[in-house]
Amino acid sequence: AKKMGRGNYQFFTPEMNAAAGKRLALERDLRRALELKEFELHYQPKVDMATGDVHAMEALVRWRSPERGLVPPNEFIPIAEETGMIIPLGAWVLHEACRQNRAWQLSGLPRMRVAVNLSAYQFRQPNLPEFVAALLVETGMDASCLELEVTESVVMHNPADAALTLERLHAQGIHISVDDFGTGYSSLSYLKQFQLDTLKIDRSFVRDISSNADDAAIVKSVIALAHSLRLKVIAEGVETNEQLDFLRMLGCDQYQGYLSSRPLPAADFERTLRLSIDL
Ligand code: C2E
Ligand code: CA
Ligand code: CA
Ligand code: CA
Repeated sequence: AKKMGRGNYQFFTPEMNAAAGKRLALERDLRRALELKEFELHYQPKVDMATGDVHAMEALVRWRSPERGLVPPNEFIPIAEETGMIIPLGAWVLHEACRQNRAWQLSGLPRMRVAVNLSAYQFRQPNLPEFVAALLVETGMDASCLELEVTESVVMHNPADAALTLERLHAQGIHISVDDFGTGYSSLSYLKQFQLDTLKIDRSFVRDISSNADDAAIVKSVIALAHSLRLKVIAEGVETNEQLDFLRMLGCDQYQGYLSSRPLPAADFERTLRLSIDL
């Protein structure tokens, strides 16, 4: 039983015990998975609206568990964040993305930029800029071929610190994107204080863009705002040609989504890319 205020006791119900047990098992398995290196990255192209070219891709982590199958990030990233495991996991993701991208470059593929998602806790590590700099030296990848995606809520948590971190990353030549743009903070004034390159419009605004006038208006304003601040705009979650045409009409620069490709394991991504460019 758990002691509450004023001498009251609240007893865990069987359901709560079951949930807590499941969660503990997941945490234990995740710890083991880190040691056994059971993670892999899948890659989704970022497509240029005007030309259809792919100059960048987003790396998305998956856990290939012998017992659980392929586990999507939403099922383990939150636990990794709560337990601090996100630091070694995030370090592995960064390293693997840079290593793979450099290997592709050395194998003769056109030079591309790889985008890596940063979690809140990772972004707040005081040594993040030095850590990334060392990683670039170690893997031999150029800083201009790395993009970091940070969510709006992460940079807004402590804007003064965030501005400094972004400046130290940007000064190295690393590209910075604001992920899930539009879902978080309402204040837009920070956009001009931060060293940013791209705003990433969240999937929730794209889904009904051709039928919902409010979504269309929001996306239209975000694009106008971004362009007036010399930022690029990418839309995520594009699944239909109708959505694509609409976004193109509004002046969006790039897109990502199942319409172009699902996130693919490295070997499949490479094969598709070679086919598309006749290598
Ligand atoms: P996100 O950064 O917003 O990534 C976009 C998610 O949308 C991905 O889900 C992607 O597979 C999915 N997606 C892409 N195109 C479409 C589409 O056309 N339709 C639909 N319905 N979905 C699409 P995924 O891979 O399951 O990742 C979920 C979230 O997990 C990511 O959201 C990101 O926040 C987090 N995540 C993934 N990899 C990492 C990582 O290495 N580190 C951290 N910290 N977070 C990660
Ligand atoms: Ca992302
Ligand atoms: Ca999103
Ligand atoms: Ca997200």
